[in-house]
Amino acid sequence: AYTDAVGTMINSGEWNGQESSVLKKEAPHMIEERGIGRATVNFKLRDWVFSRQRYWGEPIPIVHCPKCGNVPVPEEELPLRLPEVESYEPTGTGESPLAAIDEWVNCKCPQCGADAKRETNTMPQWAGSSWYFLRYVDNHNDKELVSREKADEMLPVDMYIGGVEHAVLHLLYSRFYTKFLYDIGVVDFDEPFHKLFNQGMITGKNGIKMSKSKGNVVSPDDLVRDYGCDSLRMYELFVGPPELDAEWDDRGIDGVNRFLKRVWNLVMDSKDADITATKEMIKERHKLIYDVTTRLESFSLNTVISAFMEHNNKLIEIAKKEGGIDKETLSTMAVLLSPFAPHVAEELWEELGHTESVFKAGWPKYDEHAMKDDEIKVPVQINGKTKAVIEISADASKEEALAAGREAIADKLTGNVIKEIYVPKKIINIVTK
Ligand SMILES: [Zn+2]
Repeated sequence: AYTDAVGTMINSGEWNGQESSVLKKEAPHMIEERGIGRATVNFKLRDWVFSRQRYWGEPIPIVHCPKCGNVPVPEEELPLRLPEVESYEPTGTGESPLAAIDEWVNCKCPQCGADAKRETNTMPQWAGSSWYFLRYVDNHNDKELVSREKADEMLPVDMYIGGVEHAVLHLLYSRFYTKFLYDIGVVDFDEPFHKLFNQGMITGKNGIKMSKSKGNVVSPDDLVRDYGCDSLRMYELFVGPPELDAEWDDRGIDGVNRFLKRVWNLVMDSKDADITATKEMIKERHKLIYDVTTRLESFSLNTVISAFMEHNNKLIEIAKKEGGIDKETLSTMAVLLSPFAPHVAEELWEELGHTESVFKAGWPKYDEHAMKDDEIKVPVQINGKTKAVIEISADASKEEALAAGREAIADKLTGNVIKEIYVPKKIINIVTK
């Protein structure tokens, strides 16, 4: 019933008639003045244990000196690297595996030069996972975390995709790191991601989580061997809306594989036929660009794949009539396919005579005008006498044509309809009694 959280206050004494947002700001002061409470800020981020007793992790650059206490490793000695070891198994004593490596642990105090020991705990995975995406835009930079110029150009992340299991803590820590880096001037934004998208989980049959112990794990290696990685990739997208969990079904990948073979065959059968594009082919080409582009932009990836399947079937039908499909339509198909089936798309592109990679082709644009179905004029008769002429799409189904016809003559209709006849693209006749 309410579209926003602001309203006008009633039954609130002196506040009656004011906007609720006013009291929201005032209430803490009122409470403090009366001495019945105080304002505070609640943080969801709790104290955070930042050490682990295991080998894999960034070593904490602190030296313990018997005289000076905890001394940071000087900046010019950073990064502190893990020692190369034969075994990095847990020690069993509760101590970090690094504690057993004397030549690494024993060192000199950077401050007074006395014998000292390195910190042997390592950082948790969060230490790196909270900011790694910043590094992607400037991964060869050995002077800074990220250059300000590149960060300004490419960050923050437009769309962050991850499982829901990462949504809470990972997101919280990433935001914390980003806000810190913003405060010290490394980046000029204080939120790391514009948009967060949590994908669903692929489960085994009956929605049961895949696990080795249940024996319902699907091996990607086997599927790549049997179908190729393009089929696997496309099926993963096709299996359901990306935000929902989906049940794996081996037969599904068969369907996608058959689709890719049909595309392949269509291109192979047409590529040397030198077909001139007909209006129908051009229309189908633009409809395909439109469907793939708009569905991709709305992140409806499974329906992108179904659009490919539908339009490819239509193109196969047209090819039967016309002896093939024109090169531009087929090339467009290859470009559109390239994010989903990159290997097949690249091969098709080359087979179609292009010399540069399909990934340099640029995304095609649709022309709404070219997508439109042709309109045809159809007379609507009642008992053989023309009462109206309607315009309908040349591709209209019988039901669509009759519905349009009925509407056009509704006010002229007397008696009961006993029969409706549609001669496709020619005439509609309503028989009454
Ligand atoms: Zn010291």
